[in-house]
Amino acid sequence: MSDLEKDPAEVLGFADCEGPALEMLEGREVVLGRSTTVRRLLPNKNRRMVGAWCFVDHYGPDDLTRRVDSYDVPGERGMQVPPHPHTSLQTVSWLFEGEIEHRDSVGSHALVRPGELNIMTAGNGIAHSEVSTPDAPPKLHGAQLWVALPDAVRTTTPPAFNAYADLPRLDLDGAQVTVMIGTVAGVTSPAPAYTPLVGADVTVAPGRSLTLPLTPSNEYAVLVVDGSLAVGDLTPGFGEMVYVGAGRNAIDLVAAEGGVRFLLLGGEPFEEELVMWWNFIGRNHEEIVAARDAWQAAIDAAGNDRFGMVPGYDGDPLPAPPLPATTLRPRPRAR
Ligand code: MN
Repeated sequence: MSDLEKDPAEVLGFADCEGPALEMLEGREVVLGRSTTVRRLLPNKNRRMVGAWCFVDHYGPDDLTRRVDSYDVPGERGMQVPPHPHTSLQTVSWLFEGEIEHRDSVGSHALVRPGELNIMTAGNGIAHSEVSTPDAPPKLHGAQLWVALPDAVRTTTPPAFNAYADLPRLDLDGAQVTVMIGTVAGVTSPAPAYTPLVGADVTVAPGRSLTLPLTPSNEYAVLVVDGSLAVGDLTPGFGEMVYVGAGRNAIDLVAAEGGVRFLLLGGEPFEEELVMWWNFIGRNHEEIVAARDAWQAAIDAAGNDRFGMVPGYDGDPLPAPPLPATTLRPRPRAR
């Protein structure tokens, strides 16, 4: 895991040195299903990854009582994502409000709740469903994140699901920090990580500043989910993300008058080039074709060696879309 400075005396400020990159990464609205809209921050046009974080969707807060459409299935309430496969990645489900029911092909059945980490490691293949149950709370606000697995373990790590209801928390200059994964200021999450990685949920009181310790070999992103803050001369607001390049021991953040809540996502720059298509990650076109074929065969056979079905899910699995006519090419982490 990352080794963070316990006493970050040296602050490499951006105001007084040219220093590492600080960029606003604009999200784009993506419509899932008929009319649920998410803000997709990664992959971004110029930066596809931040550390091993390779997919960041921020959604809500949605009032489920006011909609009859859905995340993926028309006519149903809230998030309704039927069983679908993943390869070579971990999914991280994180809620700020609401509740989602998770089921997967290794037999897990869990309720994803605010402040609790649900992390699913695909290895060579897993399938899961995510739904808003009829008795879920009316507000839904969360983030769906993926972490790319490194080549050395991505096909050999067994599929797994881990839930952590009681993550480590710390008080940092008066800011409340929940460590989802990795280490912040010497406090380490039990969640499994396969590259130097960090994820934290941070709340800073109105007008307060925070010197957040960083690991110089890591790059970071700050995704604002409530309020706004100042990072150097950038002031990201709700649903906006700032990229913080590697090379810093710490960074100064100042909450706006209304305070701020943000996700800190970071890690060592991930140098392997990835092919990301639909819910699969691979290293080349052929791998993606093989994963797609295996998933379609699993649907027909009600499960196979690579992808199991999802016990307890009432409905059909999600078929893969047709492959594009072009050959999928591996892409580097940044343009
Ligand atoms: Mn998924």
